[in-house]
Amino acid sequence: MTTQADWRSYRVLVVEDEPGLADSVKYSLEAEGFDVLVASTGLEGMEYSRVHEPDLVLLDLMLPEMSGLDVCRQIRSFSDVPIVMLTAKDSEADKVAGLELGADDYVTKPFSMRELIARVRAHLRRAAKAGALSDSNEVLRGGPIDLDLDAHVVRVDGDEVELRPKEFELLESLLRRKNRLAARHTLIDEVWGPSYFGDTKTLDVHIKRLRQKLEKDSSNPVHILTVRGLGYKFVDE
Ligand code: CA
Repeated sequence: MTTQADWRSYRVLVVEDEPGLADSVKYSLEAEGFDVLVASTGLEGMEYSRVHEPDLVLLDLMLPEMSGLDVCRQIRSFSDVPIVMLTAKDSEADKVAGLELGADDYVTKPFSMRELIARVRAHLRRAAKAGALSDSNEVLRGGPIDLDLDAHVVRVDGDEVELRPKEFELLESLLRRKNRLAARHTLIDEVWGPSYFGDTKTLDVHIKRLRQKLEKDSSNPVHILTVRGLGYKFVDE
């Protein structure tokens, strides 16, 4: 797994107008080895996003002049950088609006620095993985199944099978752990994200659909097996 040293080159932009909070976030992230930039207005936040190309943006929603929501929308017009919003407890509508505008996650004030850093790491990890995949020309194989990451195509015995996006990601996670246990929480984390709080039955429903699409007899699967109480396992035969 990743050690702390691997995070040292990551640059985090903090857009926060409250100097005390901006300072303590900056201090905590720097103590973990991140390269930190602070912008105190929305306009500055946008400029820094464009010019300094941060790896992640922590974006306060309550900013003077230009709101965090506008900043979020603007950044999304030119960048896929992970955006984590910093929101007040009572601004449920803002959280939803922010997520709809393309923010990846939110942290509610007051938050612990530990929690914030854990979120930052989780999002950087996901972004790094997504970036690595988009550059690859990788085909994952298991039994009669080929998953072509570049072409985003799945074939069973050479015949293309249509998968929904989450089904594709789930199959990818299973194939990357071929013949090993894929724990439930690992699959949920990889496919639905570290901040997924939904029903874990969602995973089982997606497994069922994968079996229907990929197995000869979905009620007697030979590739996508259940490891009772723990998760699933993809086996070749
Ligand atoms: Ca503020």
